[in-house]
Amino acid sequence: MNELLASFAAMGGFLVGTLVMMAIRRQSEPVREPEPVDDSLSPGVASVLAVLPSSAVVLDREDRVLRASSAARAYGLVRGDALMAAELLALARKVRRDGEIREGEIEVPGRKFGQESTTFAVRVAPLGSTGQVLVLAEDQTERLRVEAVRRDFVANVSHELKTPVGALSLLAETIQDAAEDPEAVNRFAGRMQHEAARLTYLVQDLITLSRIQGAEAIPTPGPVPVDEAVHEAIDRCNTKAASKDITLVAGGTEGLNVWGDDELLVTALRNLIDNAVAYSPEHTRVVVSARPAGEAVEVSVSDQGIGIPEGAQERIFERFFRVDAARSRATGGTGLGLAIVKHVAVAHGGEVTVWSKEGSGSTFTLRLPAFGGVAVAVPRTTSTPLEAAT
Ligand code: ADP
Repeated sequence: MNELLASFAAMGGFLVGTLVMMAIRRQSEPVREPEPVDDSLSPGVASVLAVLPSSAVVLDREDRVLRASSAARAYGLVRGDALMAAELLALARKVRRDGEIREGEIEVPGRKFGQESTTFAVRVAPLGSTGQVLVLAEDQTERLRVEAVRRDFVANVSHELKTPVGALSLLAETIQDAAEDPEAVNRFAGRMQHEAARLTYLVQDLITLSRIQGAEAIPTPGPVPVDEAVHEAIDRCNTKAASKDITLVAGGTEGLNVWGDDELLVTALRNLIDNAVAYSPEHTRVVVSARPAGEAVEVSVSDQGIGIPEGAQERIFERFFRVDAARSRATGGTGLGLAIVKHVAVAHGGEVTVWSKEGSGSTFTLRLPAFGGVAVAVPRTTSTPLEAAT
């Protein structure tokens, strides 16, 4: 028994000894720290991010924002050191896990109540092997808006083309059926001509609009004598005006010159005068008048017509917007006239404005840059009038 007790005591002593030894050894061993993490951003990456136009964010391996461009903060993608878009954060984690670059489109809700959400095209990529992730986000609002406008425009054009084409085909059928009745054939043929003319105007206006919306709307700008443009535009509208006994009058300051394209200026004025005639009662006057206005020349077209309701005045320059669609069609309108005028003004670096009162009339004013930088009236008798203006 004593032997047994002695051997237990010896084992106990050994165990205590071993534990003490282990404890001593532990204390003398250096403590193993976790691997240091390099969370700094290399200067090369930082300078690339500084020049990127898109919103850029770099996340560390704990999903904290290491660097964010001011655009990313302005859009509300980043607040403090947190990436706010949950969808984007999930994408960043996936990228960190498998190292694969990912792209996609995400929608970020507006920051304030009632504010519209923003759609971003995003690209997320691993940055080196430290677990950092780069997030690039591009605002798609403008691209989506332009796409929507284009889709609308194509739908509108198709609709506008369908009406006269449908009418033409119906009229052709009617003529076939009325082959025995020369008077009816004559009447329907006349209506066919009317519809064909409408189609022609529409196609012409579409071509004009696409030309002036192009990058090089005015390839060779030069001095344009305003009097000549006004007289040419009036000449082209005279027949229509005469049919309603409307007098077209040119007035204001003579001898002014603008900087631009004569054909486009005539087109814009013709559209304004055409409208003035179309939306005025018989036996009225339309006055086209030019005046110097500092660095610009203002040409206004005033009528004594039906006027435009205040609520519609902002929208009349939109393509295919009409206050009264039936009236516009009856007068042969394409709904593109004022859109063309607006684009001509913009292409010249100018603008077009409207004043109107229902029942009293309207005045449209084209403001275009003066030739030579300042509007100067050069008398027609001068032998070198345009040199004098510079
Ligand atoms: P439209 O071919 O229909 O005349 P526009 O683009 O030229 O198309 O004009 C758009 C709309 O603005 C017209 O349908 C008409 O309702 C209104 N409008 C334009 N000019 C005048 C005017 N001088 N007087 C009254 N309304 C006008």
